[in-house]
Amino acid sequence: MTTHYLHPRVFKINVGFLLSAPVGTSQDSTFEFPDVRVADDVTLHYLRGPLRMSRTKEGILVQATLHAGLENECYRCLDAVAVDSVVLVEELFATNGDVDAEFHIFDDAIMDMAPLLRAEILMNTDERVLCREDCKGLCPECGINRNHQTCTCDEDKIDPRLEALKRLLKAE
Ligand SMILES: [Zn+2]
Ligand SMILES: [Zn+2]
Repeated sequence: MTTHYLHPRVFKINVGFLLSAPVGTSQDSTFEFPDVRVADDVTLHYLRGPLRMSRTKEGILVQATLHAGLENECYRCLDAVAVDSVVLVEELFATNGDVDAEFHIFDDAIMDMAPLLRAEILMNTDERVLCREDCKGLCPECGINRNHQTCTCDEDKIDPRLEALKRLLKAE
């Protein structure tokens, strides 16, 4: 079964109605996206949460607390881990190119949230995650995933008698 991801264009919001509203006007909405592609390098199992857009003097202020279902890698064993990542957004989309803002809305009144969301989500994927609290990680000797397989690399090491024997053999 293949998953069909929503295209990043779902994050292009026409805010013309809000731009023509008086400063102070705000609109609340909710993101509720199942499998969605935010960018070529960011796909999510879901993105949901409340979102507020407010008309300010400089443009549109976006405030949101979103939950992003993303896939990360366990830092011990490198297995894929499903992570619910909280994405906090508070960003001005300026209508005036002169305003020192990272994001702008141009004459077409389209506010593209994808680049902003991509940046926030990528920042969250830097967090180190474990697949489980007691993840055994990879064997430093042979590289197998010790959660799924067992190897004998450790036994050689731990057995003190073997160690002693090895030392004895080397000494000769
Ligand atoms: Zn792990
Ligand atoms: Zn091993």
